[in-house]
Amino acid sequence: MSVFDEMLAHNEGYARRFDLGHLQTPPVRKLVILTCMDSRMDLEQLLGLRVGDAHMIRNAGGLATDDVVRSLILSTHLLGTRSIAIIQHTECGLLSITDDEFRWRLSTSTGRDASHLKFHAFRDLDQNVREQVARVKRDPFLPKEIEVRGFVYDVKRGSLREVESQ
Ligand SMILES: [Zn+2]
Repeated sequence: MSVFDEMLAHNEGYARRFDLGHLQTPPVRKLVILTCMDSRMDLEQLLGLRVGDAHMIRNAGGLATDDVVRSLILSTHLLGTRSIAIIQHTECGLLSITDDEFRWRLSTSTGRDASHLKFHAFRDLDQNVREQVARVKRDPFLPKEIEVRGFVYDVKRGSLREVESQ
């Protein structure tokens, strides 16, 4: 059985017990979480959220890329969210590579020129969180009253701490 078949089989039971059809499109807690795609973060569990409470935007690193900002603009202006939490985490894959090294690895394994690709690897977790918060805060299309705060999740302890912006 492939992982896709397992997903479909599980969903049959889920749909039979499903009782969330009443939820509306705007998130109940007016919250957006921007975080990494890392598989070890169960966001609802670790943040005390329920399905329907928050938008979840995930990418490698939890970075405020142009496409993430696109989503944040839609989230705030169209769907009424008012708080943005940016959560990065310990042991992130982007802490373990450099862009140069990974581009080289990719070019070697694919035989293609990867010199134009950006992966946004970083060395300093707290500083990287601060940079994402600053990037979001200075976007001219996001409402000024939105609260943006940054956090680090420890994948070994399950604990979340705030990163003070400077
Ligand atoms: Zn990560």
